Amino acid sequence: MRVLVISDIHANLVALEAVLARAREEGGFDRIWCLGDLVGYGPNPNECVARVREFEHITVLGNHDAAALGYVDVDEFNPDAKRAILWTQEQLTTATRMYLESLPQRLEEGPYTIVHGSPRDPVWEYILSPAIAKEQFAHFDTPFCLVGHTHVPTIYHLFPSDGRDALTWHYPEPDKAYRLNPDERWILNPGSVGQPRDQDPRAAFVLLDTETHTWHYYRIPYDIERTQYLMREAGLPVRLIVRLSYGW
Ligand code: ZN
Repeated sequence: MRVLVISDIHANLVALEAVLARAREEGGFDRIWCLGDLVGYGPNPNECVARVREFEHITVLGNHDAAALGYVDVDEFNPDAKRAILWTQEQLTTATRMYLESLPQRLEEGPYTIVHGSPRDPVWEYILSPAIAKEQFAHFDTPFCLVGHTHVPTIYHLFPSDGRDALTWHYPEPDKAYRLNPDERWILNPGSVGQPRDQDPRAAFVLLDTETHTWHYYRIPYDIERTQYLMREAGLPVRLIVRLSYGW
């Protein structure tokens, strides 16, 4: 099966459409696995949810999805994020709300565990260092765990070495396919569609072949100015608009 793995769309429909178009050009996909944060920050929350729902797909709940539903205190977020969340809450249609309410925090698809943040704390924890990554392997049983949340594409690889577990990690190279050994263990982050934070403003996604366990990672340009125009029209915070140009 060919899976389009996407995460952290953040209501950026222009970026999502660019990803869908490029994934089709690259041979298409059978279904979408969305690792959460469909909404929050960007100008098109309802449209992004509706677009993903047109495909056969699964989605897990992200922290911004939870915040948009009022599950958490918005004061947990920085001031710009809080303003965007309050704006998003006003926009959500009943259909979008019901869909977000239906999302699980954790899913297993064969050898793949799927969460937004981490297997230890699915909605909230950031895996931002190898030390934190290493602790996560005790919290899932499958060979692979897919995560989003940091908006930084990363591959963590746990393998036996001298009778112990060794961990390596790296940032993948765009347009490169990684063949993953299912006898070892992996935590994989595809990066963010709608608000990358690795100093590269291009949208990130992965096409995953679940038979060969091939993780093909892509970065693609999209019309950032278009999203920024829509954000200005919506009155969203300037800092959130500017950051899209730089990828931070
Ligand atoms: Zn996010």
